Amino acid sequence: MARGNGHRKRIALQPLSKPPEGRAVLNFQGGPYVHAGVHEVDFVCGICGKVVASVPDKIQFMSDTGPVIFVCYACGAYNEAP
Ligand SMILES: [Zn+2]
Repeated sequence: MARGNGHRKRIALQPLSKPPEGRAVLNFQGGPYVHAGVHEVDFVCGICGKVVASVPDKIQFMSDTGPVIFVCYACGAYNEAP
């Protein structure tokens, strides 16, 4: 796969009104979550369009109870990982 020159795939996350019971919630205050290593995919807030996480391709953010929830640092929306 092409590593690209800063051109990353963008995935719009599914916004939720509130996180489901027991779901893991990642809340990064002050800026997006940046995964160590390569960043091939940007997760985009489903409400405000800000990038909430830059991560490697095909990474899975799953907890025992389902996809992890990212809290948008900009607007506070709950977004479900793909
Ligand atoms: Zn947002």
